[in-house]
This record gives sequence, structure tokens and C-alpha cells, in this order.
Amino acid sequence: MAIEDDVVVIGGGLAGMATALSAAREGSQVRLLSHKESTLRFASGLIDVLGYVGDEIVSNPFETISELPDDHPYRNVGEDGVRDGLSLFDSITDYVGGHTDRNALVPTFGGNVKPTARYPKHTAPGLASDARDTLLVGFETVVDFDAPLAAAHLAETVPFDVRGVTLSFPGEFRTDARITRLAHALDENERVERERDDRTGSGVTESVPVRIALAERIKPHLRDAERIGFPAILGEEHPDEVRKTLERKLGAAVFEIPMGPPSLPGMRLESQFEHALRGAGVRTTSGNPVVDFEADDDISAVIVERNGARVPFHGEQFVLATGGLVGKGIDSDRSGVREPIFDCYVPAPENRYDWFEDGAFDDHSFARFGLHLDDELRPLDSTDSPEFRNLRAVGGVLGGYDFSAEKSGSGVSLATGVIAGRNASDEVNL
Ligand SMILES: Cc1cc2nc3c(=O)[nH]c(=O)nc-3n(C[C@H](O)[C@H](O)[C@H](O)COP(=O)(O)OP(=O)(O)OC[C@H]3O[C@@H](n4cnc5c(N)ncnc54)[C@H](O)[C@@H]3O)c2cc1C
Repeated sequence: MAIEDDVVVIGGGLAGMATALSAAREGSQVRLLSHKESTLRFASGLIDVLGYVGDEIVSNPFETISELPDDHPYRNVGEDGVRDGLSLFDSITDYVGGHTDRNALVPTFGGNVKPTARYPKHTAPGLASDARDTLLVGFETVVDFDAPLAAAHLAETVPFDVRGVTLSFPGEFRTDARITRLAHALDENERVERERDDRTGSGVTESVPVRIALAERIKPHLRDAERIGFPAILGEEHPDEVRKTLERKLGAAVFEIPMGPPSLPGMRLESQFEHALRGAGVRTTSGNPVVDFEADDDISAVIVERNGARVPFHGEQFVLATGGLVGKGIDSDRSGVREPIFDCYVPAPENRYDWFEDGAFDDHSFARFGLHLDDELRPLDSTDSPEFRNLRAVGGVLGGYDFSAEKSGSGVSLATGVIAGRNASDEVNL
């Protein structure tokens, strides 16, 4: 006989994981189905709730939710939903920022500051509101982060001294070594060869732990700096230890600046969620896509394609968390915009020329393509009726918001995830 779960969540990104955790905490038996890695590996690892409305920077997202358009997902879940999403997040991660409703300003690898609601503890000593003088350290092989350039940009907006220096990473790492390789060396405190400073002769080498070699390479550049910012490569498994050793050896606070892919903060965050999901008893099946579904009126199963076979996963309630245009939860071609699994309605202008504006940074309507919901978070068809009684949708697959322009990606995923998980569970328990 087919196994039936209470709640089946499709998509293993932040939105799907938040949904699964929320439903499991309400007592449901939950199955999480995911195809590939989520966008957390590309993202900064910051938890943005609402950073901008138009060109205006948002200081307190909670005071601004009521000003958003009616079709914005935050209007479906309300301020309480956003708070509940963050509480779930705070209960399972070691992030900082929950002491206030106001956004923090976090330096970015380009030398800007970004308004965000939660940030990793490894980023905390770097906040722009903290006035300590700062040294940014980049590495020749980590080319996405140009420390002197980032420092020069940052100096234009912050009220403290900031300098930047580019060093070679200690040891004989390949020039194209991935940052995960450097992070691993720091995690394991691998021994590296360096020239001995014994003034007696050149070419004499000694082997030292890489954290020590790195600290000593930085010391001559430290001067009055009270904190040092690195690209986010300070360990994947043991970032606490790496940071503590560097702080001890340098006598200054150490922080990480979030980076693009592969994002170690994003990967660490994913691990914290996976740990919480295991603890809550969520059963995860990954590596293959959901391609189809079975339904009478309600959905009874989704179909996973595995090595050419069609494997059904039965459930009582279903939640779609397949991401947006990047994650392939929403697809588009010449004929229009589609949601590929359930073929839910995606409102979009018929004329493709109306999808874009001329300038790269203009307000493009395609950025807000996605599903529209009722207050139960069920996707609506073209007549504003729920597509299915037992299907909800969360996160990047939703329309009505431009996560990149308004800096709201993680906030929408957490808020809609926690509410959809709870609502789905409530229906199971009816
Ligand atoms: C480049 C980039 C940078 C970002 N930076 C930030 C940031 O700085 N701050 C912030 O708050 N947010 C950021 N975001 C947004 C954030 O990372 C998430 O995209 C957002 O929270 C939406 O998450 P999601 O879980 O809905 O989708 P995704 O993260 O896209 O996850 C979707 C999941 O669904 C799976 N899936 C898709 N189709 C199927 C299928 N048919 N069957 C089974 N599984 C499927 C995918 O494999 C994936 O695991 C960024 C996003 C991107 C793309």
C-alpha cells in the first residue's frame, strides 16, 4: 500500500525548509521533496525582510508592510506572519539581529551597505553602525573581493576609518583554488610552508598552522585597526574556532563579509536547517524532480521522475516551494510564463515587450512574475478561485514582489513558509 504523508512539500530551499519545519512542529508527518541545490548556495546568507521600497531605504520593515501593494505576499501573511517566520528562524540558527525590529547595515563585498534583518554571528562585528576603525583583507586568488576598492567605497558612507589590503593566502594553494578549499584548510588548521624569519639566510622554510601564518601575514598591516573584515571564507565546519584563533593572534575583532557563490554563509545556514529538519522528524527525498501530479478534485499524489520511472508520493496537503525564475519554479518561453508542475495560473502581460523596461536597473514586470494567493496561501486561477483546495505555495514561486530590488527574498520565504506549514497542518488535523 502507498505510504501517505500528511504534508508533502515540493522544493528544498529556504521556503520549503521553513514550511516543512513549521508543519512538523504542528505535529504533521512531513515529506520534503527536492530536486537540486537551492539558491542558498548563491545567496549572501543574509536574511533580508524588506530593505527598500522603490528607491527609499527601509529602516523598520514592520512599519512599512501596510504600505505595500495588495498583491504583495506580506499582505497575505501580515506583520504577525513575518514575525512568526523570523521566530522560527531564530529558534534554529545562531544568527543575530533579533534584538530590534530595525534593519542592520551590513557591509557588502562591493563596499556598499545593505539593510538586513538577520545576519550571521560571524558578520556581526562588521556592522556599519559600529564606529571601530577597520581593515579589510582580501586575497589575490579570491578575485570577487577587491579589499582596497571595497574599503574606498565604504569610506564614502561610513563614519570610521577603513583601509583595504590584498595579500596572498599562505601556503601553496593553486591560483584557481575554490574558496571551499581555503575554508577547509582553515577548518583543519592545515600546516603550510613559509620562509623562516631567522635573519641567517634565505630559502629556509618551516611548517606552521595556516591560521598562524595568516595572522602573521596580516600583522604588519594592522596599525590602529580594531577589527578586520575578511571575505566569507573563514571555515565551513569550524568558523567559530577559525575566527577565535585569528582574533587571539591579531588582538582585533574579526568578521566576515558575505560573498557570492559558492556562499559559505548560505551553506552553513542550509546545514542548520537540515539539522533542525532531522530533529523534527521531516523525511527528505532529494535528487529527482517532481514532474507531475494525480488529482480528482484534490491532489492525491505528486510524481517524482527517478531514472525514467514515475514514483508517486501521496499526501493529504501539498505545498509548492520550487523557487522563482532562477530555481525553475517559474518558467517562461515565447508562448508565455508557466508554473511547470501543476500548471497554476501565472499572471503576465500577453505582449512580451511589456515584460521588460529599457534600462537594466529599471522596474521590470518579469521580476514580479509568480503565483497569486488567497489568504490561506492557495494559488489562484484566472478567476481568482483556488487552483486546488489542498495546494499552497510559498517563497520564490510567488508573484507580486521583486525580491532583488526590495531585498525581501528570505523574509517572504520564512513568513509564507511558516504560515503555509501551519495552515496545511491545521487542515490535516481537522
Ligand atoms: C543569486 C541570488 C542571491 C540572493 N541573495 C539573497 C540575499 O542576499 N538575501 C535574501 O534574503 N535573499 C536572497 N536571495 C533569495 C533567496 O536565496 C531565495 O531565492 C528565496 O528565499 C526563495 O527561496 P525558495 O526556497 O522559494 O527558492 P529556491 O531557493 O530557488 O529553492 C527552490 C528549491 O526547489 C527545488 N525545485 C525546483 N523545481 C523542483 C521540482 N520540479 N521538483 C522538486 N524540487 C524542485 C530546487 O531544486 C530548490 O531546491 C537570493 C537569491 C538568488 C537567486
